[in-house]
Amino acid sequence: MTAPKKLFIKTYGCQMNVYDSERMAEALGANGYVATARAEDADMILLNTCHIREKAAEKVYSELGRLKPLKDANPDLKIGIAGCVAQAEGAEILRRAPVVDLVVGPQTYHRLPEMEAAVRAGGRLVDTDFPAEDKFDHLPRRQAPGPRASRGPSAFLTVQEGCDKFCAFCVVPYTRGAETSRPAARVIEEARSLVARGVREITLLGQNVNAYHGAGPDGAAWGLARLIGELAALEGLERIRYTTSHPGDMADELVAAHGSEPKLMPYLHLPVQSGSDRMLKAMNRRHTAAAYLRLIGRIRAARPDILISGDFIVGFPGETEADFRATLDLVAEVGYGQAYSFRYSPRPGTPAAERPGVDPAEADDRLARLQALLARQQAAAQAAMVGREVGVLFERPGRLAGQMAGKSDHLMAVHVADPALAAGDLRRVRITAALANSLAGVLA
Ligand code: SAM
Ligand code: SF4
Repeated sequence: MTAPKKLFIKTYGCQMNVYDSERMAEALGANGYVATARAEDADMILLNTCHIREKAAEKVYSELGRLKPLKDANPDLKIGIAGCVAQAEGAEILRRAPVVDLVVGPQTYHRLPEMEAAVRAGGRLVDTDFPAEDKFDHLPRRQAPGPRASRGPSAFLTVQEGCDKFCAFCVVPYTRGAETSRPAARVIEEARSLVARGVREITLLGQNVNAYHGAGPDGAAWGLARLIGELAALEGLERIRYTTSHPGDMADELVAAHGSEPKLMPYLHLPVQSGSDRMLKAMNRRHTAAAYLRLIGRIRAARPDILISGDFIVGFPGETEADFRATLDLVAEVGYGQAYSFRYSPRPGTPAAERPGVDPAEADDRLARLQALLARQQAAAQAAMVGREVGVLFERPGRLAGQMAGKSDHLMAVHVADPALAAGDLRRVRITAALANSLAGVLA
């Protein structure tokens, strides 16, 4: 028997890329690959890239520069670029980076086994199609003993991909393509196999996950609430989350599910981007600040203890100090438990990239002010947990000896020192202290 080949994947960006990396590793398992955590040992290196941040492509080219000595030392090493930079740059990557053997987009990575065989035979390949076939139909079933067969109690499951919203700043509709939803039966089957492998929490993923409208076994399109309801019936699956949502797709049934489905965790990432209606219009977000606030009110009425998380862009072209203050006002009104905030950066090919930008020093100053407010809110949300009893799913040993670390129902990091705990345990914990980025507790 030949020794297995080793695969090293470096993943950038969002949870959808984390999920895709797992599926790519499983697909290459069919070609005899096992995972390695060391690039130096690898027979194949894949960079699963993200195009959301500034200078994404340039960062990939610098990383390739760092990998060149490995390729010089081992001419049999194959290097591939996957993900959204691969989709956006395509054949340009082969031209600019001679160390790269293959370029594969997010919709064609099910073809990796054939591509790998072809590059082993001496080719250099690019595949950034948006093919008619569904990649999920061509990927190995998840119970296959892929290179990452041993896994933790929490898993991602992509149910929806792409986006038709075309926010004026965003590359996703271009790199991930039109919105598509996986059939409900396939999602349920994948969830079942994850649960059989010890998974107790599943986070449903999509660029616009609450737009989910997959075909149900009855032929009707199922919304996300219906899918969550069916998944909640799976014995052994204890927690369900979903991300990322658009405010415009928050159906009444989904809001109601937050009140009626105990397995749906009290945490919702619902980006608003700005509190100014003028900016929201310029961003093509298709909702107003007031509509967002009303929606938050309805969600909180369904689930009063829900923790709201969000994304913000400051310094969007045309943003004035008054627009920015409207964002601060909205943040103050919502009270976020967690949030991501970014300075606007132009993405080539998007409508906003053509517009004159805000003074960079001004944008930096606004970002600092917004982040200070969000940090205060996050610290307050953490502090409010002290003395409360919460559910915690333990995932791994903590940083100190004897500790186990996991996530609370509200997705906060919690650690507990107790010799009785093991990874995969779901326990009630009384929170005793709020530290900088985590909570400490004792078993209740
Ligand atoms: N689909 C989600 C939504 O509608 O909010 C998230 C998409 S994106 C992967 C994640 C976040 O990156 C966005 O919510 C936005 O705040 C930020 N982002 C996207 N494009 C950006 C840009 N050009 N400049 C700065 N931030 C950006
Ligand atoms: Fe991008 Fe999200 Fe807007 Fe779609 S809804 S274009 S993914 S920011």
